[in-house]
Amino acid sequence: MSKIIDGRLIAQKLKNNLKTEISNLKKKYREVPGLAVIQVGNVAASSVYVKAKTKSAHEVGINVIDHHLDENISEKNLINLVKKLNNQINVNGILVQLPLPNHINEQVILDMINPDKDADGFHPLNVGKLSINLFNDENLLIPCTPYGCLLMLKSLNVDLEGKNAVVIGRSNIVGKPMAQLLLKESCTVTIAHSKTKNLAELCRNADILVAAVGRPEFVRGDWVNEGAIVIDVGINRIEVKDEKKTKLVGDVNFSEGQLKASAITPVPGGVGPMTIACLLRNTLTAFKNNLNYNKSG
Ligand code: NDP
Repeated sequence: MSKIIDGRLIAQKLKNNLKTEISNLKKKYREVPGLAVIQVGNVAASSVYVKAKTKSAHEVGINVIDHHLDENISEKNLINLVKKLNNQINVNGILVQLPLPNHINEQVILDMINPDKDADGFHPLNVGKLSINLFNDENLLIPCTPYGCLLMLKSLNVDLEGKNAVVIGRSNIVGKPMAQLLLKESCTVTIAHSKTKNLAELCRNADILVAAVGRPEFVRGDWVNEGAIVIDVGINRIEVKDEKKTKLVGDVNFSEGQLKASAITPVPGGVGPMTIACLLRNTLTAFKNNLNYNKSG
């Protein structure tokens, strides 16, 4: 039976460290990091995520500046808000909760965010820095979900160098940056997607298998190499058979995967809490980068 990687526990440890660091910085500089959270409309899942992120930010001592906007806001007005926040001195991180309504071009908005305040790590400049290894990880704003996955892998204290890693999914927010982070750890990385042939066979060669597909229990137990580490990014809500309720499952069939993997993340309680903790880490990183800039400027 495999070890279950407890994302809640690892996230809590990270948050405790962030809280201590923020408290020390507050004593020294009389300032705390500020995170502006923009939500457009009332998509239920977005409201849940925003609430969880706000609560966690408060827990570690980050000031949250909330902007909950009408779903009919124009793209121009949203751009104007982002521009304002880009220049607002008490804002170190800007988070735009996705998805945005169809009449707004998400990439246009994400590209407008000052890269130094890019709490999600999605700005092309930060994505570029990640891929060319420009700065050390301490200063870099890194996409939260894949960074959370990497921290979970590191919590196992296994040597990642030379391991065969297969990432299923090539999205800009999970799959691709995940592959970059694993490459930085000197894994041999394969990125799979909907056009990949012989996916099950490919997965069977993986020492590390990351599933970011968005399909409930897509990865079956016989796809998992004996002793592999399995990171399940998926969050899928499904109906429970014969009962009038729903539950969350990942992209991996957990009970089957558990029989083969040496370690596996659960859903819920795996990658999700780590994503939030890494958002807070990015906000603190942006705050510290700004302090260093001011000191040297
Ligand atoms: P996307 O829909 O953007 O990407 C899904 C990827 O899966 C695509 O690259 C797609 O390939 C690939 N794919 C789809 N079907 C198949 C298939 N049959 N075989 C192989 N590959 C396939 O999703 P995201 O990356 O945004 O999210 C993935 C999952 O992670 C979702 O369940 C999402 O809810 C969850 N998530 C969880 C987070 C957390 O905090 N835990 C945060 C973010 C996401 P192609 O490119 O060819 O279309």
